[in-house]
Amino acid sequence: MSTGKARVLDGVSIAATIKSEVAAELAAMRRAGVTPGLAVVLVGDVAASQIYVRSKVKACGELGIYSDMMVRSATTTTEELVEIVAGLNARAEIDGILVQLPLPKHVDTRKVLDAIDPAKDVDGLHPMNVGCLQTGRPALAPCTPAGIIEMLKRERIPISGQHAVVVGRSDLAGKPAAILLLAENATVTICHSKTRDLGAVTRTADILVAAIGIPGFITAEMVKPGAVLVDVGINRISERAEFEKFFARDAEREAGFAKRGYTVIGDMDPRAFEVSGAYTPVPGGVGALTIAMLMSNTVCAAKQRRGAR
Ligand code: NAP
Repeated sequence: MSTGKARVLDGVSIAATIKSEVAAELAAMRRAGVTPGLAVVLVGDVAASQIYVRSKVKACGELGIYSDMMVRSATTTTEELVEIVAGLNARAEIDGILVQLPLPKHVDTRKVLDAIDPAKDVDGLHPMNVGCLQTGRPALAPCTPAGIIEMLKRERIPISGQHAVVVGRSDLAGKPAAILLLAENATVTICHSKTRDLGAVTRTADILVAAIGIPGFITAEMVKPGAVLVDVGINRISERAEFEKFFARDAEREAGFAKRGYTVIGDMDPRAFEVSGAYTPVPGGVGALTIAMLMSNTVCAAKQRRGAR
């Protein structure tokens, strides 16, 4: 069933608004002699991580946040990374530390994240911030889930009392998204790979969040008509057959696919968007907000740490 009236939740324009608000705060901080600083640690040569890190550093440059990009080889050890983080903890001009994930398999990611000073943990992954978020205390929240809430609020989508179903339970996306939705008084159900009859659960969602990592996994049949769809997934598809499955007769996508040899799709089948009331497109939805929220978290951490207003 297609309502044909689905509203597009435009992450790009919301991100631009958030960035302009952050820029105004930064201007006031600069007048008080404070320039916030963000350190981004990139380990190895995963292409997607390189792109993400470059975009983060670029956003800092555009807004006037000092940034330090530390690139280390894929053979860097856990101990070396812990030492790098300790060095960043000690640097007064650094307010935010972001270790780009995933780290190489041999690295103990938890040890590295646990080494970050919670006051500089702008990705919100230190157990101290996770615990504060969980218990309703002020905390640096992970950027992607924080961006989801920001988007829903700015688009005036009701959350309180709504049934929010989150598919995916990662520490980075699914779990914190569920916690933040709960904090906004949604009734929250979390699903994962062991959930039985997933479609029966997702069909009860007023707000459906997908953070799975499987292209087009949520189909139109799994969605209640009129639901709000939040697609966190960022997946590349380069097989022609898979492309055709999702984007047959989409001339714009076809042109991009022909040019680059791939296209980016979320965890939701684009046909699911057609039955929704509103949805976040991929690209241009949730992903666009993540960097804006990182900038916002960096300014927030700087204010807290330096006592600036
Ligand atoms: P992840 O750590 O791999 O977690 C995936 C989750 O999906 C797991 O909880 C897993 O369940 C669940 N899952 C896997 N197969 C499933 C199935 N068949 N049915 C139901 N649940 C299933 O991934 P992630 O880091 O959360 O990322 C998810 C997606 O979001 C990826 O596409 C990633 O690129 C994207 N992402 C985007 C942003 C952004 O800025 N927009 C930020 C972060 C991530 P189990 O726990 O049972 O294994």
